Amino acid sequence: MIGKIAAYAAVIIVAFIGVFVWCYSGAIVTAAVTEKVVALTYDDGPNPPHTQALLDTLERHSVKATFFLKGQNVEAFPESVRAVAKAGHEIGNHSYSHRPMFSLSKTEMLEELVRTNRLIENLVGYEPLLFRPPYGIQGPGLKMALDELDMTSILMSTSGLDWEVTDPKLIASAVVESIEPGSIILLHDGHGDVSDPSAQDSRAASVEATGIIIEALRAQGYRFVTVGELIQLSK
Ligand SMILES: [Zn+2]
Repeated sequence: MIGKIAAYAAVIIVAFIGVFVWCYSGAIVTAAVTEKVVALTYDDGPNPPHTQALLDTLERHSVKATFFLKGQNVEAFPESVRAVAKAGHEIGNHSYSHRPMFSLSKTEMLEELVRTNRLIENLVGYEPLLFRPPYGIQGPGLKMALDELDMTSILMSTSGLDWEVTDPKLIASAVVESIEPGSIILLHDGHGDVSDPSAQDSRAASVEATGIIIEALRAQGYRFVTVGELIQLSK
């Protein structure tokens, strides 16, 4: 009896691991490159005026980054979205409502993805091909929806932990100390958990950290590219 239960448990565990691995198949965590290139990415925006401050910092350093935008914020701040695109940065999709997506159905996921893609396309003229799952959580529904839309999930290999660290120097050192060629760096210019786009807190620390990160990594010989460019370099 105990042997049978153990066998059933083993089958269930193996099946669960199989589904988990499949859900994340195709997702990019880091790029296989040998040269010193990395990608700065920003989630949960736009969040004016912090998104604008970030654009100013990136322009001052002549760096292009990738912004994963939340659909609700795209609706609320269309001018900010246009400013990101006009500055030459890459735009990706970060869902419409920023719900954790392990349990959502394929239909619900398609709604989240397509709605946000349409909003972005109407403002900047193209549909994003890249998606970052909120909280990095990816379930079967999301995997099927991404495959159907031919979109790629972009995770991250390095983070400034800026959802809990508020000192710009500490945010920057968390990134700089864990960097390696091909790193995808996660930072935030907005707040995913805030349902009212106008009620978002400051991201001044992340903006200041960005300048420190760029200067420190350039001193080590790194250059910055968008996620799309990083994927191309890894082929
Ligand atoms: Zn987020």
